[in-house]
Amino acid sequence: MASDLEIARAAKLRPIEAIGERLGIPADALHPYGRHIGKVGFDFIESLEGRPDGKLILVTAISPTPAGEGKTTTTVGLGDGLNRIGRKAMICIREPSLGPCFGMKGGAAGGGYAQVVPMEQINLHFTGDFHAITAANNLLAALIDNHVYWGNELGLDPRRINWRRVLDMNDRALREIVSSLGGVANGFPREDGFDITVASEVMAIFCLARDLRDLEERLGRIIVGYTRDKTAVTAAALKAAGAMTVLLKDALQPNLVQTLEGSPAFVHGGPFANIAHGCNSVVATRTALKLADYVVTEAGFGADLGAEKFFDIKCRKAGLTPAAAVVVATVRALKMHGGVPKDQLGPENLEAVRKGLANLARHVGNVGKFGVPTIVAINRFHADTEAEHRLIQEFCASQLGVDAVICNHWAEGSHGVTELAERVVGLAESRRRLDGHGFHPLYADELPLWDKMKLIATEIYGASDIIADQSVRNQFRDLQAAGFGNLPICVAKTQYSFSTDPNLRGAPSGHVVPIREIRLRAGAGFLVVICGEIMTMPGLPRVPSAEQIRLDRDGQIEGLS
Ligand code: ADP
Ligand code: MG
Repeated sequence: MASDLEIARAAKLRPIEAIGERLGIPADALHPYGRHIGKVGFDFIESLEGRPDGKLILVTAISPTPAGEGKTTTTVGLGDGLNRIGRKAMICIREPSLGPCFGMKGGAAGGGYAQVVPMEQINLHFTGDFHAITAANNLLAALIDNHVYWGNELGLDPRRINWRRVLDMNDRALREIVSSLGGVANGFPREDGFDITVASEVMAIFCLARDLRDLEERLGRIIVGYTRDKTAVTAAALKAAGAMTVLLKDALQPNLVQTLEGSPAFVHGGPFANIAHGCNSVVATRTALKLADYVVTEAGFGADLGAEKFFDIKCRKAGLTPAAAVVVATVRALKMHGGVPKDQLGPENLEAVRKGLANLARHVGNVGKFGVPTIVAINRFHADTEAEHRLIQEFCASQLGVDAVICNHWAEGSHGVTELAERVVGLAESRRRLDGHGFHPLYADELPLWDKMKLIATEIYGASDIIADQSVRNQFRDLQAAGFGNLPICVAKTQYSFSTDPNLRGAPSGHVVPIREIRLRAGAGFLVVICGEIMTMPGLPRVPSAEQIRLDRDGQIEGLS
């Protein structure tokens, strides 16, 4: 089969105005960035206010292998499939970061015959949103050091400045640095560091803000550090929010592109799924719901992280009501959960699949706890056998009471995913009859922070308890006392296990979740609870993808995957 890049390049793209027209976006409301990408203007978005919302479908997954199990691919495929069966569907996904593109995982625009295009632009600079976010983040960093340089009127304690600079690159050399070296003219030296842009709080804010005004207010609430007596200093106190918003003004308009089959897709925003909530912008999702009858979207990582945050943070805060969830499973990941080593996932192994189904069962049960009807999509890989598929389907029907549909969109496009599309429509429509028993977040806003975290750990991860040092417990208590007790929690932990040990596959229970640290994200409006090692500036692998990426003689990009 052709590579993703070859398939993407062979596609005949329609002008972006034609894609906009399908959605009823007038030409003057679509600001083209080249011929196949357009940003949708805010005047038009505001004019949609009174319209009814379409149905929101979340695509999530079991605990993945490091290669990814196909959430993005399934999101795109399902969107195409819904259009194929005559529904008006749209896709909402995140913008890819340059870090993984040149590192290991490759791009994030789907794969095979389920991709958004133009793939090269989407994976590289696209409409410059990430550059704008980088600039806004670093403008704030510059204003902080400048404030200290010119007399530090707010009394910021340089040891307690926690606003880091960002870059959209995997670059471990910048994780910890000392800034302002070189003498009096360069300011006060202090320990500093860089995160990758997708880990910036500005990215999380960008993706949760409803509009430009909300964006500015949230930016102003960012806490950049503390004074010696531990009083918080905000971006608003530094008068930074206005200029940051100006830098983000155009970026906040959602980016319209198309799939290989011409379905409309918003690709907008891209926060990390560990220290942030891992889904595309609220602006894009809300706009899409006004423009289409079905909106298919993805949340990063497995359902324990992605779906939980999607429901408890994004849906809660943006007032969204998901109509159904698709849990993507692959035979290879199930085998891995059944104890098979990574290099032996190819051959048929029914016993391992059967054991691994415990992981799928836990995720499906979890999604049900939010009152969202669920279906399993088996993303078909070449090496899968029929017996393996049958085993999964029988298990889902008899043990979980949900359908499991074989999906072949990666190899066949929408043709391979019509059954899933039909069943999703059935699930989403049946919702209407369940008034009052529908979607609800896992916990109430008022539940104390410690109890929220404990509930997530016990209900979603199958843990018996959470533990933390006294200093971390004190942080919980202080944040509660300082009025942040109503915020939702954003857990940062490994995506490979329900526990905090990435090697513990399947569905471990009775484990204890150790909490290392809490970070307040006052602008984004959540508390990051860190359980385990979390990298906010990744490094490149020994052989980075960058080594394969080049221009060929005709000026075409090679090696992007
Ligand atoms: P996720 O969003 O869950 O991380 P992706 O959809 O990005 O996963 O898929 C991860 C990688 O696996 C991509 O390179 C994609 O092309 C590939 N992939 C997905 N589904 C299949 C499949 N059925 N067969 C082969 N490769 C696939
Ligand atoms: Mg993805």
